[in-house]
Parts: sequence; structure tokens; C-alpha cells
Amino acid sequence: MAEDLGLYVPPAARIGDPLQRVGTPSLVLDLDAFEFNIERMAALAAAHGIALRPHAKAHKSTAIAAAQLAAGAVGVCCQKLSEVYPFVRQGIRDIHLSNEVVGADKMAMAAELARHARLSICADHVAQIDALGAAAAQAGTRITVLPEVDIGQGRCGVTGSDELMALVERIARYGSLRFGGLQAYHGGIQHLATWNERRDAALRSAEKAAQHVRHLEARGIACSVVTGGGTGTVEFDVESGVFTEVQPGSYVFMDGHYGSNEWGGTLKLQHSLFIATTVMSTAKHGMAVCDVGLKGVAVDSGLPRVRPGDDDALRYTAANDEHGILRIADGDEDDGDVRDRLGERLMLIPGHCDPTANLYRQYVCYRGDTVEALWDIDASGLSR
Ligand code: PLP
Ligand code: MN
Repeated sequence: MAEDLGLYVPPAARIGDPLQRVGTPSLVLDLDAFEFNIERMAALAAAHGIALRPHAKAHKSTAIAAAQLAAGAVGVCCQKLSEVYPFVRQGIRDIHLSNEVVGADKMAMAAELARHARLSICADHVAQIDALGAAAAQAGTRITVLPEVDIGQGRCGVTGSDELMALVERIARYGSLRFGGLQAYHGGIQHLATWNERRDAALRSAEKAAQHVRHLEARGIACSVVTGGGTGTVEFDVESGVFTEVQPGSYVFMDGHYGSNEWGGTLKLQHSLFIATTVMSTAKHGMAVCDVGLKGVAVDSGLPRVRPGDDDALRYTAANDEHGILRIADGDEDDGDVRDRLGERLMLIPGHCDPTANLYRQYVCYRGDTVEALWDIDASGLSR
């Protein structure tokens, strides 16, 4: 055994610290903007009498889920069973897994979780239902199953009404299962750039969900829940007359990609999530190198943007593992001499919040210029 040297990485931030002193890279949360977003989405759902079940995969944090519940959310969605554990441990007991699961290890997890929470899970094959039914029966618990219908994404979910009926009938065979309604989500339309394109696509998808509901109703089966929708379509989904519940996730943060789209409604969400970074090398003319690269920001939906007003001459142009390349815009008054920018601190707006949050273990939450709270990202990395 090596000697314990008491040698630990110092914390990036302490409550009460000035924001300027937070160690970088850090994932930071502007609490004013965050609270604004939480309130706006809660008010939108409440105004339409629609249940709000935010997707926790966006933030993976029980502290944020607690804030959403305090604002009126009925529960949360998770995408993976392992992700559910920290939420249940923290007392969040109404969780919808908006996804399919297969395999003995998953069934054991589902049955265990269902003993502690009101758990619902999606299915699009009778074999998933058989496995869930057997696992729940063996554990002496009950799992709610929501068949997933494909409303245009072309990923998971059944398309035909006979296929759907077969799933509903299969669920009814098991005393350990309960038919909970329908999961109907189209991720591909969430990021359509213009408001009108998004509205038309959302209406088409909602109509597909409505057809399934009508078909089941004609056979005497009521769908008490139709759940779906994300940040991009939520304003249309709450008015659709089909969805009883919406499951937006990214709205709490409003990432760069969502922010670049057109918002024609009243929601007007604000960027609340940033990555604090420092320029740590200026050795090359016309280029500043910062300490946030691929390990500090997801780039699948575009490179991060420097927050407007921080240093408008710098543009983030490439991400290496731990280096971010910032190019100086043509026509900058310093003519490409960046040396005086060494040590400059910037806030980056991540292109895609979900995979970015999953890279960190805590949110450094600030109000104004001061660190107010440190929130664990307790489901970070949990993707089984
Ligand atoms: N519901 C499901 C099933 C999802 O997969 C997602 C995200 O991909 C969401 C809801 C939330 O979407 P968003 O973060 O765009 O609001
Ligand atoms: Mn996303």
C-alpha cells in the first residue's frame, strides 16, 4: 500500500467564491436563467392542463429534478435504468423510462427499482413485455408499461395499429404489469430550424399519435396517458389535444443548437449552462488556445460558441482532446496579436447540453458574480 499523502485535487469552487475564481474547465449554471426556464415551462404546461415530466437525461442531477418537481412536475423521465437509481435514492418516486430494455440484468434492475418507485417502461415487442411481466411477478411488484408508437422518427416504436393492439393485449396477460398509455416521441423534429417547419411537423406527429389513441378507443381501451414531446415542439404539443404529458429536457439549459433555432412563441428560454474556460496559450499569431476541448464539451451538434460580450473577437474553431482553438476574427483591432489574452476567462455555450453535462460531476451554480451552490451530477456516466 502506498502511503496516504493526503494529496487530493482541490475543489474547483466553494460556495461564496467569486465566479472569476472558479477553476476551469467547470460546468457552470446561471441560476437566474435556470429558474426562469423552470418557471416558464411549468407555467406553459399548467396553463394547458398538461402534465410536465421533464427528461432527466438532459441534466442527470437529482438537485435539478428536485427543482423541477418543486415547480410542479409530476415526476421525471430517465432514458436508462442505471440512471434511475440516484433519483429513487433521493426520494423521487415517479419515474418513466422513455425507452425499451432487454436482457436479464436489465429485468433485475427494473424489478428492483419498481419495488421502490412507481416505474413505467416502454415496449415495442411482446418479448420485452414477457420478460418484464416475469421479472415483476417474481419480485412481487408491478411495472407500468407504455407501448411506444413511432410517430415519424423511424427509430423505436411500433407503426401499425395491429402491432400496438398485440402489445396491449400482451400486457393484460400479466397481473404484474399495467397498461399505462402510450409513449410517442419524435426526436428528429425537435431541432427543425424554423418555427413553421417545427409546428407543421409537430402537428403531423401528434396526428399519428391521435390515430393510435382513436384505434385503441374503438376497441374499448382508454389511453390515460399519452406522453412525448421535447423542448423544440413542446409549445405545439401542449395544444395538440393528444398529449396528456410532455417530457422536455433541454429547456432547463437551452443549449447552443436549440438557441440557434427560431422561437416564435412565448416561451423565450434563456441560456443557463456554460463552460467556464481559460485561455492558457497564445504562442501562435491569430490564435488563442483554451482549456476546453472534446473532454469538456460535446461537439456533435456544433462547436461551442463564446458567450456574446465576453470576447467578441474570438471564435471557437476546433476541439482537440483537451485544447480548444479560438481564432481571432479578421479585422480585430489587435491585428491578430493575442498575447495579452493569456489568462482571459470566457464562458462557452455548449452546442448540445445532454452529452456535455454527462462529462462533468458537478454544476457550479452562480447568481450574479458569486457561486451560490454546488450540485452533483449524480447520474453522470450512468448509461447501462
Ligand atoms: N423524450 C425522449 C424520449 C427523448 O429521447 C428526449 C431527448 O432526446 C426528450 C424527451 C427530451 O428532448 P429535449 O432535450 O430536446 O427537450
Ligand atoms: Mn439532446
